[in-house]
Amino acid sequence: LTNEFKQAIPLLLHLKEHGFQAYFVGGSVRDVLLHRSKHDVDITTDAKPNEMKAIFKTANHYSGEKHGTVLIFFAGSNYEVTTFRIDGQYLDNRHPETVSFTKNLQDDLSRRDFTINAFAVNEEGELFDYFGGLNDLKNHIIKTVGQAETRFSEDALRILRAFRFSSQLNFEIEEKTLLAGAKIKNNLADIAVERIFSEFSKLLSGDNPSKSLKQMLLLGITDYLPGHQLINDPSALFTDFTGIQSTIDAINWTRFVWFSHLRGEKLNQYLDCWKMSNHLKTQIIKSVNFLSKKAVDNLDLFTIGSDIAIALSAVSRPDQNELKQRYEKLVIHEVSELQITGFDLKKIGIPSGPIFGKIIRNLRKKVILEQLANQKTVLIQEAKNDFSNLGTIK
Ligand code: ATP
Ligand code: MG
Repeated sequence: LTNEFKQAIPLLLHLKEHGFQAYFVGGSVRDVLLHRSKHDVDITTDAKPNEMKAIFKTANHYSGEKHGTVLIFFAGSNYEVTTFRIDGQYLDNRHPETVSFTKNLQDDLSRRDFTINAFAVNEEGELFDYFGGLNDLKNHIIKTVGQAETRFSEDALRILRAFRFSSQLNFEIEEKTLLAGAKIKNNLADIAVERIFSEFSKLLSGDNPSKSLKQMLLLGITDYLPGHQLINDPSALFTDFTGIQSTIDAINWTRFVWFSHLRGEKLNQYLDCWKMSNHLKTQIIKSVNFLSKKAVDNLDLFTIGSDIAIALSAVSRPDQNELKQRYEKLVIHEVSELQITGFDLKKIGIPSGPIFGKIIRNLRKKVILEQLANQKTVLIQEAKNDFSNLGTIK
């Protein structure tokens, strides 16, 4: 057991002292077996949410609570602790109608999506593997727990999760699982965009996204990705993503939309289909606009600003290093570094309003293009000239 697990052992023991069972489960167990670095440790127990709250003062209400998940703050970290559960019938291709709690670990593990995600480990490091997960882990196989068709019919998001894990771990999806995914793909139409976004982002930042994307294209599963109708050149899916590894969403998304030849209005529309954050959307659009320039001037470098790192990591360009160096050498990197303030402009009688903005932009442009020194006296003189010119135009 790694340190992350060791830190949480007292939490497990605390549950056991109160007569409950408790295990480590899910992705953290899988990743530690694969010697991949791991973030958060998930715990499963037969204690019900109310029982957990009774024995942990730091147990918090949590959005997942009706599904049995409680957030417990313990020894400096937050842990998601979930009650053993059996999912009821699935009627909407995504959520069980009911969940019932159980005292049986195997029942809980059997509702989990893939064999490699259905392990439990106790505080002594003893592994509970009821579905052959260890074998699949060894053979680099993604395989559902139970019948693939049934499991995908219950929750279609699992189809995307299969491709996500296949990309992340560079594993192969077992044939039956793959075929069932293709068969049940229509149900993906019912899945919320936010859930698809989260899995697809993880797919893009995985070890082998192009393999998964190609397979998804071949099976027509890409048709169920938001905005798919806007991509008329699926060559993006054949891009070799490997070699320029990164885990940052913005880099992977920029790379993906860049190779999809999504530009301008279409790019905007496409990103809106994914309901992504405005921050991420802006980063992607800025990066794609920047990459679209054949000749890059200092103004372009200033406009992209620190997001230049995203653009240059997403796509390799022959002038990569030169652009980086030129960016570093810009006279200013922020508007605030301009050696003139609104107060200075007011003092020389320039009223706030559109002209004010125009003059500032003009000064900024000239400083960035090194046509003007970034010195207060120089800038004030230029502002005066500008003002009299603009004044006569007006
Ligand atoms: P990550 O490293 O991305 O967190 P993970 O395996 O922990 O990977 P999560 O989405 O955090 O994935 O889910 C935690 C665990 O819950 C999974 O390992 C799996 O056992 C179970 N699980 C999650 N989503 C589903 C689902 N849609 N259907 C069945 N089981 C699921
Ligand atoms: Mg997880």
